[in-house]
Amino acid sequence: MTSFSALTKDALSVLPVKALHCRKAELSAIAACIGLVDFDEADRLLFVLQSESRPVMARADYLLRTLTDDAPEVSAVRGAGVRAPVFTLIVRKPETVKALLRDLGFLTAKGVLREFSAPAPKGLFDRECCQRAFLRGAFLASGYIRDPNADYHVELLAQSEARAEELKNLLEGFSLPARITHRKGAPVVYLKEAEAVSDFLSLIGASKSRLEMENIRILRSIQGDVNRRVNCETANLKKTADAGMDQVRAIEKIAREKGLRSLPEQLREIAQARLEYPDVSLKELGNLLDPPLGKSGVNHRMRKLMEIAESI
Ligand SMILES: [Zn+2]
Repeated sequence: MTSFSALTKDALSVLPVKALHCRKAELSAIAACIGLVDFDEADRLLFVLQSESRPVMARADYLLRTLTDDAPEVSAVRGAGVRAPVFTLIVRKPETVKALLRDLGFLTAKGVLREFSAPAPKGLFDRECCQRAFLRGAFLASGYIRDPNADYHVELLAQSEARAEELKNLLEGFSLPARITHRKGAPVVYLKEAEAVSDFLSLIGASKSRLEMENIRILRSIQGDVNRRVNCETANLKKTADAGMDQVRAIEKIAREKGLRSLPEQLREIAQARLEYPDVSLKELGNLLDPPLGKSGVNHRMRKLMEIAESI
């Protein structure tokens, strides 16, 4: 069965994006996770993206094709000992490589190459639409969402501490309570609350996944209510049964030490009823008498019985 995370990524990989600025922002986030620069035989700079994930590579291919004039070179290599093939996208044309690196924020104004794992330069993705696109790219390339049937949790693996801070700040800018943890030494930015996970999904354009999650949330909350009610009723039944047993013990003590005949008629009647029905509530016990007696009357007499037992 395909995981919720994979389904979400599949849907995102074909999400249409109109604006060029958003496409750049999304591709920049993807490249930060799976991008690198390499050199060809003539020592010319190459822009390379590499991943085992089909939806990520399909997305990167789409973004590259719509941002540059030439189509990237695509290859799939099944390495020795590697289960899944590694897909590679290579952009070779020097002008295109340079333009891409600059547009994605990996070249400084002075033309110096920046680390891919460094945060995006200030001002590059100021627009809200681009920030959403950036988060979508980060999720596609290094994110994971747990099946909402099990838990509400979404996370983005960051390539550096500074990058984790950047992602956290971006999420906080959208009022999402992001936190950072570390897994095997690598920083991971995550969201836990159902509300936040749901908001994140709509933020990055995963509306179908968000709808599905909301449905699961409703079912889970109904189930939760039912469980709480059942637990509550069970607790009440247990309380009634416990009280009934205490009363039975007290009445048995009276019977043993003094005999039930020693009791006035009114008390003897209720004592006998209790011995016969140890686990019904006081109200039900009152209804079993002839004539029936109200709950407060039963309560009053029962208290008297308990007092007698205690005084023995
Ligand atoms: Zn934009």
